[in-house]
Amino acid sequence: MEVETKFCEFCGAKVVIDAVICPNCGKQLEELKTEENRSNPQVIINNSNTINGIAGKKQCDKWVALILCVFLGVLGGHKFYEGKAGMGILYIFTVGLFGIGIIVDFISILCKPNPYYV
Ligand SMILES: [Zn+2]
Repeated sequence: MEVETKFCEFCGAKVVIDAVICPNCGKQLEELKTEENRSNPQVIINNSNTINGIAGKKQCDKWVALILCVFLGVLGGHKFYEGKAGMGILYIFTVGLFGIGIIVDFISILCKPNPYYV
């Protein structure tokens, strides 16, 4: 088995292909990729933590709520989605506050940012 080799760009010595530090001159040949890979997921975790921190509330997808409002508005689908079960039950018994609630909610959801918090 032949070991793959490369040449050190500093001193020209033959070193193994995945060598990070040249054994001849001791200079760094490669970026430490493993450390980069470790730090990236941490950044993502930190971001999601901040989002959760802002929330303390329920995060809702605007378009999901809008679709639920249109198709399941009479059953309070979007109210249940927002975690407002009481309002949802009220919508079931009043057919979406006699349709007025659905129209009002549709416009108010449309004006909200995505995602929005309730
Ligand atoms: Zn070298």
